[in-house]
Amino acid sequence: LHTEHELREGHGIPAAPGQGRYLGAVMRKAVGDQVILFNGRDGEWRARIAAIRKDDATLVPDVLLRPQPPAAGPILLVAALKREAMEWVVEKATELGARAIRPVLTARSVPDRVNRARLLLIAREAAEQCERLDVPALAEAAPLHAVLDSWDGSPLIAAAERRGATPLAACVTAPDPAILIGPEGGFTGPELDALAGRPFVALASLGPRILRAETAAVSALAVVQAIRGD
Ligand code: SAM
Repeated sequence: LHTEHELREGHGIPAAPGQGRYLGAVMRKAVGDQVILFNGRDGEWRARIAAIRKDDATLVPDVLLRPQPPAAGPILLVAALKREAMEWVVEKATELGARAIRPVLTARSVPDRVNRARLLLIAREAAEQCERLDVPALAEAAPLHAVLDSWDGSPLIAAAERRGATPLAACVTAPDPAILIGPEGGFTGPELDALAGRPFVALASLGPRILRAETAAVSALAVVQAIRGD
């Protein structure tokens, strides 16, 4: 279970809203039963249920099961997609180890905003499910030009069908690259020119077929994971 609270041996914490009911009514847990907790900072803890009542539970960490690993993994920048596709991408990117997910607004992005709170919830659930001890940082959606203008100069790989001559695997020069995926309608010509004009951007191919944006995101992250070898 994910918690916002600090995890320390013997220090009881309240279950998050909804977790008490989940533990009692759905999982049929009782006082004395064990749960597993993580907060993205203090590692994974076994905890005991010290009290449980309706939507309320108190959990007391007692054994550190896994220390917190250092934050690592690629950064996924993805054009804002329709709700279902965006949620799917966030779930899969979490499973595939993305350290951060940054929705980007492009000329052909259909939505002009994303529901960050909902995406964060999905990322948390995916982290719980895949036993990951942190939740990817989820940025607010920002326009592509603003992202490029404020970029720190580290390598940014933009997936560009037709224009990306180099296969993605050959563009990955750092273990934790940043990868940009365009919208369903693709980047516009001026956007591709703007990307190609930045010295830190490499345009990469994901193969000869045109992938849906969500497939492209997952495929790119799988390539990075294969290169990292973890
Ligand atoms: N409407 C565009 C077209 O027909 O040319 C296709 C856009 S594609 C559905 C969405 C995004 O996925 C693209 O902007 C790109 O970032 C990525 N993508 C899809 N297939 C790709 C490929 N073969 N190589 C590189 N990027 C790809």
